[in-house]
Order: sequence, then C-alpha cells, then structure tokens
Amino acid sequence: MDLIKIGKFISTKRKEKNLTQEELAEKLNITDRAVSKWERGLSLPDADKMLDLCNILDINVNELLIGEENMKDEKKKTDELLIELAKQDELKNKRLITDMWVLTITAFVFYIALIIISSILLGEGPVLATIVCISTAILLIVCFYGFKLEVDAGYFECRHCHHVFEEKNYFKLLMAPHMGTSRYQKCPKCGKRTFAKKVMTKEE
Ligand SMILES: [Zn+2]
Repeated sequence: MDLIKIGKFISTKRKEKNLTQEELAEKLNITDRAVSKWERGLSLPDADKMLDLCNILDINVNELLIGEENMKDEKKKTDELLIELAKQDELKNKRLITDMWVLTITAFVFYIALIIISSILLGEGPVLATIVCISTAILLIVCFYGFKLEVDAGYFECRHCHHVFEEKNYFKLLMAPHMGTSRYQKCPKCGKRTFAKKVMTKEE
C-alpha cells in the first residue's frame, strides 16, 4: 500500500469537498493531527473510521486503499454514453433518409398524376402549360429539400479503404455523379475516387 499516494488522495478529495483538516476530523470524531498524519502518508485511517471517511469523501474503500478513483467505472460509463449517442445519431440519420424517400417519391407520383390528369382534362393549351410549369417548379423545390435531407443524414464510406467521412458541401454533392444515395467522391484518407456509399454510422 502506498501511504503517500493514499494521503494525497485523501487531501485532494477533502479539498474537493471544501473541508479543512479540522472540519474533517470533527466529522470523524478524531483529532486533526490524525488527519494531518494520513495526508502526509505517515499513517492509515483506522479500519473503524474508514467507512465514515469514504462516505464523507464520496469514494469507496477500494479507491481509498489504492489512492485513486476507479477510472474503469468512469470509462465504462463514458463508453456506454458514446454508444448511446451513436445509436441516436444512426436513428436520426435513418429517419432523415426515410423522410427523403417518402417526400420525393410522393412528390413524383403527384407530379406525374397531375400532368396526366390535366392533359386528359384540359388538352394542350396555355392552361396546361402553366400547370406543368408550376408543378415542375414545386417538384424541383421538393427535390432540393429531399437533397438537403439526404446531405444532412449520415456519412460516406470510401469503397476502397472503407474510411468513413462526412461531406456537407451541398454544391460539391449536387455536382457529384450519384447512384442512389452513393456519390462519386474523393476519399480524404486514401485519395481514391469511388462511389462512396452512404452509411448511417461513423463506425468504420
Ligand atoms: Zn479511401
């Protein structure tokens, strides 16, 4: 057991709790000399005071005896949090892609239906031309919005080295040849140009 390390740990934890040696001693019903001796690594708290001390300092006995906080638990918690965040990110991205498909497909179906029905009902003429112009404009707006949803969702995976990267440059993506949601892009890692696959998570 490393008494110096334990002493420093007690001292750090005591200060974190804004306690003086005297105040800590008072809470434990011992002399402040005893606390001072622990903190200088000259002695170890008596077994019957250990639990109370740990409660006051918000640590466990194991941590007290090692002289440091158990980082394993902390790291586990952080890892779990990161996994949870990644899951939520994936869900959000999937939702965006679904919205994009529903929106654009619905818009296309309505567009085609509207054109066919109007041309049957109205025949060729200025009214039909106006309807076609306006509905084409609306369709284009919807498609741009769908494209925005697609850009916002997820990441791209290089087909060559499988590196996953983010690309949010609308102009660049709009100009890049695409197949479905894959877009022809240069991989920032290996520099190869491939039809980078749309993926929903950052994990490679
Ligand atoms: Zn690559």
